[in-house]
Amino acid sequence: MLQLDSIETVIKQQNDFFLLGETQSLDFRKQQLRHLKKLIINNESQISEALYKDLGKCNFESYLSEISLIKKEINNMLNNLRKWSKSRYVFTAIEQFPARAFIQPQPKGVVLIISPWNYPISLAIMPLIGAIAAGNCAIIKPSELSPNTSNILEKIINNNFDNRYLKVIQGGKETSEKLLKEKWDHIFFTGSPSIGKIVMEAAAKQLTPVTLELGGKSPCIVDKNINIQETAKRIVWGKFLNAGQSCIAPDYLLVNRSIKPQLIEAISQTIKEFYGKDPSKSTDYGRIINEYHFKRLSSLLTSGKIIIGGKIIPEENYISPTIIDNISPDFPIMEDEIFGPILPILDYDELEEALNFINKRPKPLAIYLFSNDKNQEKIVIRNTRSGGVSINDTLMQYAVLTLPFGGIGKSGIGCYHGKYSFDTFSHYKSVLKRSFWLETNLRFPPYKGKFKWLKFILG
Ligand code: NAD
Repeated sequence: MLQLDSIETVIKQQNDFFLLGETQSLDFRKQQLRHLKKLIINNESQISEALYKDLGKCNFESYLSEISLIKKEINNMLNNLRKWSKSRYVFTAIEQFPARAFIQPQPKGVVLIISPWNYPISLAIMPLIGAIAAGNCAIIKPSELSPNTSNILEKIINNNFDNRYLKVIQGGKETSEKLLKEKWDHIFFTGSPSIGKIVMEAAAKQLTPVTLELGGKSPCIVDKNINIQETAKRIVWGKFLNAGQSCIAPDYLLVNRSIKPQLIEAISQTIKEFYGKDPSKSTDYGRIINEYHFKRLSSLLTSGKIIIGGKIIPEENYISPTIIDNISPDFPIMEDEIFGPILPILDYDELEEALNFINKRPKPLAIYLFSNDKNQEKIVIRNTRSGGVSINDTLMQYAVLTLPFGGIGKSGIGCYHGKYSFDTFSHYKSVLKRSFWLETNLRFPPYKGKFKWLKFILG
């Protein structure tokens, strides 16, 4: 672990390295991305092992939700980087003639990436891919709550890249605070809204631009005209993957009252199909990250009436897939993001009721709608504000790398993935190049006798 007083040295080294200009070359950036991909592939089993130790994540989920996405994102960058890095010529008006104007994407410089523990590999590496693609140097501060994965990250990055270019710095609150006191060219933070505020406040002191990938309560609306079995499967998968510790997991259901009993029955069946009668024995079901979060989640089990699950094993930080009914909107479970395997069910008669409920609360990262009614789709997309909307599925939008991923309001600022990552870590520099031939002298004083010509040209 790095001594706090050497943080300044590392940042200085990265700034000096950035100024050498090496990171700006397309070949260099592509080479580093290929190198990173190879390292991820070569360390796949160690990464999976670490994810299992930290989160009880099985190999299948580790590959699906972390490793495969990284490989896909690197390929996406490699395929498009040349095109995205090109300068783009733009129109210049007659009064500029003769001139050329273009926009040149350039790396911002030295960036800080702070990542959380729930997808500890992908949420550190996915933004890093964007930072590398755009040509930045980067320091990554992974979460102290997923120590096994943070150790692997440190090994992969610090032992295989020039640390004047990329470096992992481990540590908790004290390290984060020290890092945030420094001057950065961009801060990319993924985590909770409360820490997001601290990050933004610190960044404001240095006028540092930020991307804040935060969380919140993502509602899932279930209309009456749906395929109930398929809907149940997709909800159960999205909610209980990673034991519910996903920023875009459906936080609560808003179900059309007329199908609520059938949906609950289908969810109950699906949980059994996916994880067996006793999910604590399933190798496909994860654990809560630590005792603090286990206790926080356990205390939410006193809200409403548990209709499925509700079993806990404190020594394992295990909470079974749980569905809670009879929820009142003022229950503690409806205040903050649940971030665990507990799914409250609320109901509605008319879609408008559900939308009013959502619109009275902070803007979520995702809104899910299960419906076969195109009109309802349009209404939900148009009449709500959220990072994104996903229709008839959960979580899958995260893996569409051509879509921007990010929140709005309390769920975040800015976005990333694919081109949007490249944009986030780039500055679009405006360049105007004028020629020396043909100078009308119209704009230069003395202005006497020139006004009518000025009006003629400028309109
Ligand atoms: P967190 O906010 O507690 O921690 C995130 C990171 O911030 C960690 O690296 C942590 O060490 C660091 N940190 C802690 N205290 C800090 C401080 N005072 N100053 C600066 N940094 C500090 O979040 P978490 O518990 O790791 O993750 C869960 C949260 O992250 C949830 O709210 C979830 O919705 C959100 N999340 C969002 C996304 C997204 O893409 N939008 C993805 C995953 C998780």
